[in-house]
Amino acid sequence: MGERVRVAAVIDETAEAKSFVLDLPPHWTYQPGQFVTVRVGEVARCYSLCSSPFTGEPAKITVKRMLGGHGSNWLCDNVSPGTELELLAPGGVFTPGSLDDDLLLFAGGSGITPVMSILKSALLRGAGQVALIYANRDEPSIIFAQELADLAAAHPGRFRLIHWLDCDHGPPTVAALRQLIEPFSGYEKFVCGPDPYMAAVQEAVAGSVRIERFESLSDNPFAEQPSSERTARVRVAIDGQNYEFDWPVRTKLLDLLLSKGINAPYSCRQGTCAACACRILSGEVKLLNNEILEEEDFADNYILACQAVPLTDDVSVTYN
Ligand SMILES: Cc1cc2nc3c(=O)[nH]c(=O)nc-3n(C[C@H](O)[C@H](O)[C@H](O)COP(=O)(O)OP(=O)(O)OC[C@H]3O[C@@H](n4cnc5c(N)ncnc54)[C@H](O)[C@@H]3O)c2cc1C
Repeated sequence: MGERVRVAAVIDETAEAKSFVLDLPPHWTYQPGQFVTVRVGEVARCYSLCSSPFTGEPAKITVKRMLGGHGSNWLCDNVSPGTELELLAPGGVFTPGSLDDDLLLFAGGSGITPVMSILKSALLRGAGQVALIYANRDEPSIIFAQELADLAAAHPGRFRLIHWLDCDHGPPTVAALRQLIEPFSGYEKFVCGPDPYMAAVQEAVAGSVRIERFESLSDNPFAEQPSSERTARVRVAIDGQNYEFDWPVRTKLLDLLLSKGINAPYSCRQGTCAACACRILSGEVKLLNNEILEEEDFADNYILACQAVPLTDDVSVTYN
């Protein structure tokens, strides 16, 4: 199901955050802003790749300890060079449509990880302007401080780096953010950070902003399915390809597709974000949870792959 991936190096980033350089399987590719899912015993946790797929650097994740958190502390305490972790292939939709767009990036604390990947990719491969507003508690807690300073020095005409420190000004307010973002109104906007920061950014922007929410998975996508389980048959059209699989009736469609190595899109995996939405062409499914699709979406045959289990013996879905 997952693949065993060797940790090549461990880097102390701050007192609370460590980076893990990963020897990803060569057939795994990723887009800027995507994440991998890591098995930690009986649970699984997502971590954004902070490396860029275009710079030639090795793949890297950065884990910040969460007070009382199971997965983040286990990883920071136990992983050393040579450790093998079990991972699911990169996924997620927090990635720019075009690296040539002007980008306004917001990061708070460990939310810098997917933003860093987007930033480095855009500076190397894109042609637009890039601005980053990066909020942290204080200077010692800034992850990638030196790398960001180096990027700002290397791209003085294209990259504006704006640090916000709570210890100097308190947490960023909507009014303060409005002032900061004024010069960047036409830019494509992306935010990742703690919920209060993302809420303030959304209110200040008052327009479209793509968000990546860091939360722990409540399900374990690595868990074995009982082999005697009844199966349905599912046909899936995705990325111009057609697949057909046995579909164990208690397995969610997204888990099935990922276990088959298909790069199906997803983010929250809890029925709250619709990143995994696809359309049903025939057959019926049941959604175990749905906090995002509405009547009109169902009328258009949309379902959430992360919550869909089969109700009929034959099901056909499309992502195209
Ligand atoms: C797409 C995505 C990308 C992510 N990328 C990153 C990244 O790059 N870097 C990063 O550091 N994180 C990232 N995360 C977050 C990461 O997946 C974990 O959620 C995070 O590391 C915390 O996991 P944990 O197991 O340490 O904490 P958990 O054990 O899940 O605990 C989380 C919090 O809840 C509290 N808690 C736990 N159990 C209970 C309980 N029973 N009652 C009350 N409180 C409880 C804990 O004390 C803790 O404060 C990402 C998440 C997503 C979805």
